[in-house]
Amino acid sequence: MARKMMLKDGVEEAVYDFDLFVIGAGSGGVRSARTAAGFGAKVAICELPFHPISSETIGGVGGTCVIRGCVPKKILVYGASFSSEFEDSRNFGWDINGPITFDWKRLLENKTKEITRLNGVYKRLLTNSGVTMLEGEAKLVERHKVEVIHPDGEHKHYTAQHILIATGSRASQLNIPGKDLAITSDEALSLEELPKRVVILGGGYIAVEFAGIWNGMGSKVDLFYRKELPLRGFDDEMRAVVAKNLENRGVNLHPNTSLSKLEKTKEGIKVFTDHGDELTADVVLFAIGRVPNTKRLNLGAVGVEVDHIGSVKVNEFSQSTVSNIWAVGDVTNRINLTPVALMEGTCFSKTVFGGQPTKPDYQHVPCAVFCLPPLSVVGLTEQQAIEQAKNDIAIFTSAFTPMKNTISARQEKTIMKLIVDCETDKVLGASMCGPDAPEIMQGIAVALKSGATKAQFDSTVGIHPSAAEEFVTMRTTTRRISAGTPVKKDHQIS
Ligand code: NDP
Repeated sequence: MARKMMLKDGVEEAVYDFDLFVIGAGSGGVRSARTAAGFGAKVAICELPFHPISSETIGGVGGTCVIRGCVPKKILVYGASFSSEFEDSRNFGWDINGPITFDWKRLLENKTKEITRLNGVYKRLLTNSGVTMLEGEAKLVERHKVEVIHPDGEHKHYTAQHILIATGSRASQLNIPGKDLAITSDEALSLEELPKRVVILGGGYIAVEFAGIWNGMGSKVDLFYRKELPLRGFDDEMRAVVAKNLENRGVNLHPNTSLSKLEKTKEGIKVFTDHGDELTADVVLFAIGRVPNTKRLNLGAVGVEVDHIGSVKVNEFSQSTVSNIWAVGDVTNRINLTPVALMEGTCFSKTVFGGQPTKPDYQHVPCAVFCLPPLSVVGLTEQQAIEQAKNDIAIFTSAFTPMKNTISARQEKTIMKLIVDCETDKVLGASMCGPDAPEIMQGIAVALKSGATKAQFDSTVGIHPSAAEEFVTMRTTTRRISAGTPVKKDHQIS
């Protein structure tokens, strides 16, 4: 389709097929398309075809979060968490007679059904909003023109006033001999068999979450990461707690270690570490970060700049270096979380189609790592608070045995932490590692975003008996750190 011209008040004005063409129907793309349509824009969205099982394609309306990320991962976390529930139930009077067995294929089938259902829900959301859905691979041809190669091989051109890049990211690969024997989280979510022995490389979200999943399902798990503790960027004290919990639940931890080679043998995949050790696994997972999906978009040809890893460079309004081309979500590598992509999408539509220029607000973005038990945080870590502090900082911590564990005898403590500015009394950061941490932290995030002080936490009445009430009953300062103190790493809770 070509760009047409029409006369408005005697002046030639461009007319495009669409007001907005969105490339990528993941969290950021779908939200942007729907909200733009809600403002009256004529919108198209293009996505690759959906294959619920195959990992050969990265497509599907719903994107990474729905199809090969947050949602299927959480389903597997639920599946894995039953094993400890069965163990814990004994002292509550339950006897499970006969062997407890786990059917991986049944879980996988149900997971796939749910993902397929959600894919349909997302499609309906788009069509009900009046968005035109296109299937195929899109790339930029000109600053107002996109080419789509449809599944039947047909190449079509579409023009648009604005173009939004929302193509997300894909798992990074490690360039070592035998790397093709390893899988990424894409395949890990759809393995045909539950592996008996797993090696995981990485210390980020995906690595510790899959360590919990496979460990909970009864696999032997060896987790290799190149730092002293997993989850770089999180509060050091909480990182130590997560490592301790993983170890206590049976995951073999290999800190300060990476992998140097993989080799196929009769027994499985032989894994060589950079310490000269060897072990054999059925599955090797690389979970070493993600890179933006920009390679095939032809961005350079139209002047859209990317950084050294390929992330689209954007300003505070998500506008790229070409004024009518925008980008939201993981492809911009800001904070790579679904709710952040949703926020960026909403702000984009308000700015471009709603007449309300709106910047995404990256303050107090809460997040959770769905290890077992989960970790959830909002605001500053202790290390960030010390680095940024103009005033002294007070740290409040609580390490306690959750009520359920007093009966079940599970040797696992819940840890909570508040970081407070001694001058303003504002709570700068909160973290929790323990059952229900993400459910609890969402409410704490509202408090921090509203600028709550420690005195307001203290004057809030608790919900009893709950773990959450501990957040409003931490009266004694664990330590006070003077402004200007150099950051100490890796505080340990005994
Ligand atoms: P992360 O960025 O969280 O972690 C990457 C890990 O890989 C780090 O431990 C890093 O080590 C390690 N690493 C990087 N390069 C190498 C290498 N060459 N050799 C060995 N180790 C290496 O990435 P993930 O893949 O876990 O997750 C990707 C992103 O997806 C996350 O950042 C997050 O934004 C999102 N996500 C969010 C989830 C949630 O909200 N619950 C769940 C899953 C993913 P080091 O620290 O030393 O650099």
